[in-house]
Amino acid sequence: MKLLAPAPGWSAQADVIVVGSGIAGLTTALQVRTFGLSVLLVTKAKVDEGSTKWAQGGIAAALGEDDSPLAHEKDTLVAGAGLCDSEAVRVLVTEGPDAVRTLIARGAKFDLEASGEMSLTREGGHLQNRIIHAGGDATGAEVERALIAAINSDPHIELIEHALVLDALKDKDGAVCGVTLHVIGEGSRDGVGQARARAVVLATGGLGQVFAQTTNPSVSTGDGVALALRAGAAVADVEFIQFHPTVLWLGESSEGQQPLISEAVRGEGAYLVDHNGDRFMKDIHPLSELAPRDVVAIAIMNKMVATGKSHVWLDVRHLEGFEKRFPTIHASCIAHGIDPAKDLIPVAPASHYASGGVRVDLSGRTSVNGLYACGETACSGVHGANRLASNSLLEGLVFSARIASDIAAKMAEIAEPVANNSPEILLDPEVRNLIQVSMSRGAGVLRSSDSLLETSSDLTRIGDRTSAAPCVEAWETTNLFQLAQAILKAALIRQETRGSHWRADFPEASDLWRKRIIQQLDQSGNWHTEYQEVK
Ligand SMILES: Cc1cc2nc3c(=O)[nH]c(=O)nc-3n(C[C@H](O)[C@H](O)[C@H](O)COP(=O)(O)OP(=O)(O)OC[C@H]3O[C@@H](n4cnc5c(N)ncnc54)[C@H](O)[C@@H]3O)c2cc1C
Repeated sequence: MKLLAPAPGWSAQADVIVVGSGIAGLTTALQVRTFGLSVLLVTKAKVDEGSTKWAQGGIAAALGEDDSPLAHEKDTLVAGAGLCDSEAVRVLVTEGPDAVRTLIARGAKFDLEASGEMSLTREGGHLQNRIIHAGGDATGAEVERALIAAINSDPHIELIEHALVLDALKDKDGAVCGVTLHVIGEGSRDGVGQARARAVVLATGGLGQVFAQTTNPSVSTGDGVALALRAGAAVADVEFIQFHPTVLWLGESSEGQQPLISEAVRGEGAYLVDHNGDRFMKDIHPLSELAPRDVVAIAIMNKMVATGKSHVWLDVRHLEGFEKRFPTIHASCIAHGIDPAKDLIPVAPASHYASGGVRVDLSGRTSVNGLYACGETACSGVHGANRLASNSLLEGLVFSARIASDIAAKMAEIAEPVANNSPEILLDPEVRNLIQVSMSRGAGVLRSSDSLLETSSDLTRIGDRTSAAPCVEAWETTNLFQLAQAILKAALIRQETRGSHWRADFPEASDLWRKRIIQQLDQSGNWHTEYQEVK
C-alpha cells in the first residue's frame, strides 16, 4: 500500500536517510557519521519538535556505585510484565551507561550534586537511584539542545526541516532504498520529492495523537509505524499504550497535547480527590496516590465512569513551596486560570507512550531489508507490556549506536527504486477528530470487547471517508487511521489484562498470552496476524 501523493518532482541522496530529529534520530545521525558516511536528516517540523524536548524526569542508567546493570535489568523486566525480550533488555542496561557517557561527551549537561558527582534520582518502579536529569525537570530540552548543536557543526549531515516522509521506496529485490517526502520549502526542493540511500532509519517518535488527549506533541502521529506497515514490515505490541494518570484537564472539547502533571507532584504529597472531596486512592492501593502509574490511571477512569464526570481533582493546596518546586506545572495551571495555592487542579488520564511499534532485532533491523527503526517508533522488546520510567530516552541512545554499526558493516550501492503499483489510500482530514475521540472512548485506558467493537464499527465507517486531495493533514490522518486499526485489532485479540493493556472483561493476566502479537499489512491492504513466543 502507499499514500495517495503526487509523483516526486525532485530528488536527493545520501548514504543514510534518518527520519526524525528526537533523541533517536539525532543520535543515529551522529553515530552514522562516526563511520564517515553522509546523512540526510529529515524532520517534519522544526528540528526540535518532538517528544524528546518535553521529557521531564530523565534518563535511566546504572551509573551509581550501589547500582548495576543487573539491578536495572530486574526492574525493567518487572515493569514489562512478562513480555520483555530479555536479550534486548540486557543490551539496554549493559550498553546504557556508555551511551550516556557519549551523550555527555557530545555536550549534554546533567545536574550534579554539590560534590560534583552526577545527581541520581529515583522514579516509580526503580529500586535504585539511577535517573540522571538536567535543569531539574528539563532533561529532554537539554538533550535536544546538545544534540542539535552537534548536528549543526557537522557539514556532512544535511538537515531538511518541514519535510514529511510519506512512504518507502524499494528496489527490485524488495529492499528499502529511499523514501518519498513532502517538503514545505522553496526553490528546487518544494512539494513531493524522492530521496535515495543505502539504508533508511525511522525515528519518528510516538503515536499519542491517535487519541483525543495526549501528552505528546502534534508531530506524534506515528508516521514511521504507519509507513513501515505499508512497506510490509512487522509491527508488534501496539496494544500496549501507556496512559499517564494526571494530565491537566482543559475542558470537554479540549484535544491534542495537554500539560503533564508529573508523578513527582504526587510524590511530594498531593492528593487525588473525587467531586465529593474523597481521597479515593486510599481504598484502592496501600501506596494510595503513589500506586503504580497504571493502577492510578485505572482508578481515576473507574471513578470518572462511576460519577459521570470527565475528570477528578488533584489537591496541592497543602504543599509548601509548590511554585518553587514545580515552576513549569505552576505556570501551566496559572495560564489556564487555576491557582494551585487556592484551587483544586482538574486532571484526567491521557495517552503518553507507545511501548510497541515497528518490530526490530538487536541491530534495529526491521523485517524489511534496508529499513531500520529506532526510539519510540521501534519495538525492540525492551519495554514489553509496560515501559519502566525513563527507559525510553535510553533506548534511543543505545539502539541508535547499534543501527549505525550495522549499516556501516554492510554497505551496498544505492539502488534504483522500482515503481510501486500497490493500492493507494488517503482519508479526508475531517475524520481525524472522529478517529481520536472514538479511540479514546473505546480503546483508551479501560477496554472491553464491547467498547473495542464499537470503535471498530466507527473505524469501518470512517474508512469510507476517502479523499482525492493530498495534503499534510490528509497524510497524517491516514497514518492515524492505519495505526488505530492496528491498535484496535491487537487490543481485541489480547483477551487478558497485562501491563498497560486493561480489559474490563478479562481482568487477569493469562499464561496463554505470554506472547507478542505481530501484525503486517500485505500489498493489497489485507492484515495478517501472527504470534511470537517471548524469549
Ligand atoms: C511530556 C513527556 C514527558 C516524558 N518524560 C520522559 C522522561 O522523563 N524520560 C524518558 O525516558 N522518556 C520520557 N518521555 C518519553 C520520551 O520523551 C520519548 O519516548 C522519546 O523522546 C522519543 O524519542 P524519539 O527520538 O523516538 O522521538 P521524538 O523525540 O518524538 O522525535 C520524533 C521526530 O520525528 C519527526 N517526525 C515524525 N513524523 C515524521 C515524518 N513523517 N517525517 C519526518 N519527520 C517526522 C518529528 O518531527 C520528530 O522530530 C516523555 C514523553 C512526554 C511526551
